[in-house]
Amino acid sequence: MTENLIEAAADEAVTLTSELIRIDTTNTGDPETVVGERAAAEYVAEKLTEVGYEIEYVESGGANRHNVIARLAGADPSRGALLVHGHLDVVPADPGEWSVHPFSGAVQDGYVWGRGAVDMKDMVGMTLALARHYKRNGIVPPRDMIFAFLADEEAGGKYGAQWLVSNRPELFEGATEAISEVGGFSITLKDDVRAYLVETAQRGIRWMRLRVRGTAGHGSMIHHDNAVTKLSEAVAKLGRHQFPLVVSDSVREFLDGVTEITGWDFPEDDLEGSVAKLGNISRMIGATLRDTANPTMLDAGYKSNVIPSVAERPSTAASCRAASRRSTANWTNCSVPTSNASGWNCRPSRRRSTGRSSTR
Ligand SMILES: [Zn+2]
Repeated sequence: MTENLIEAAADEAVTLTSELIRIDTTNTGDPETVVGERAAAEYVAEKLTEVGYEIEYVESGGANRHNVIARLAGADPSRGALLVHGHLDVVPADPGEWSVHPFSGAVQDGYVWGRGAVDMKDMVGMTLALARHYKRNGIVPPRDMIFAFLADEEAGGKYGAQWLVSNRPELFEGATEAISEVGGFSITLKDDVRAYLVETAQRGIRWMRLRVRGTAGHGSMIHHDNAVTKLSEAVAKLGRHQFPLVVSDSVREFLDGVTEITGWDFPEDDLEGSVAKLGNISRMIGATLRDTANPTMLDAGYKSNVIPSVAERPSTAASCRAASRRSTANWTNCSVPTSNASGWNCRPSRRRSTGRSSTR
């Protein structure tokens, strides 16, 4: 009987995940254009109230930025509550780059497909299914549980978790532990060796916008002060720049741990070469060895035969990330040591200048 109930919850998790993916909750980072989170929050609210939850439905600092929080009483109120939280937004997806439409929520080949299927409508769907399973079947967990479905994670949480913690801390009162996405995962290093990684810190981030001024002119003429050319040079230089290696204590401890279970060495004089042995996660671990800067957006001009005086619009963004525990504060004036001779400047992007942190 219990097994059947769990199986039903598992089946429902697939349906819920698929239906959530069909709600386009793209978070562009521009509050003006984020609209889908509200529909997703309403969907979650309905699924919770349907089985008897009393929910808190909270708008977090901006129109359409909605969150849903529900509590389930546990057997032992003296124990701290467990917070299980997930975000409802997703990063943008271009359907042209997908073999399955990113907002189809298609279930095929034994998988749920779409944007958010792994980050993180899958976990939201599972959490929702379990919350419904508990309530429907009168299951009392050992301790209080708080389920939170949140807005705006993909743009830093300013209109989601951050707003809620600052403005509605009582919603999380009594919580002593929390579970959400990516705090740890496992990898197979060798045939018989599996490692379970635990996140100990996150990278800092500073998004920057580069702007170059030149002289406007016609594309048919000789032109020595072309803003697009200068910006391209700066972007290329920034993208190729290598920051110095800085191995933090936690990264060293991680590498030593891998040595212990695999016998692989990570000598200081060939750190990056040896980290490549880690396979799929080598790019992620490599990013903990040094700060990184990646140009991410590029646009300029308005007509193919006109040289614009400014190259920036709508933005030439660089995603600059500091390795764990290192500050991005000194990047405010772009300390990326690149020549400024060509007259470009680099400043924190208005859209997202504060510390979002992730390796993704
Ligand atoms: Zn996520």
